[in-house]
Amino acid sequence: MEEDGEFLKTQKDGELFVHKNFLYSINSQSKKDPNLKFYTCVERKTCKARIHVLNNKFLKMVTEHNHLADVAKVEAKRVMTYCKQQASASQDATSRILQDALELLVSECICNFLLQFPEPSNFRSHQR
Ligand SMILES: [Zn+2]
Repeated sequence: MEEDGEFLKTQKDGELFVHKNFLYSINSQSKKDPNLKFYTCVERKTCKARIHVLNNKFLKMVTEHNHLADVAKVEAKRVMTYCKQQASASQDATSRILQDALELLVSECICNFLLQFPEPSNFRSHQR
């Protein structure tokens, strides 16, 4: 899943591609193969990173990023996408959708935190 990458739909940027916490926007499509698409880093003003996406899956990186991945930015986009999907798929009040989105964001943040610190020596995992 993480290796393949995923798509996020946002209001402002349209469709973005996420791979290893980097965001990409579509640049062009291969003339030879319509399933092969070329994506560039959303920070294209300063970063020249490019990837190839084949059949909606990450294929290869052509140029490396000159900066670190922005996990918070990716999470924010992910939550916004989730909100939009929920808003169009359900009759829930907006406040409920936001609440769900916040819960999703918080749980993902905790997951990311735990992944960064897999063996926290100060914590005792099986005690409350
Ligand atoms: Zn970049």
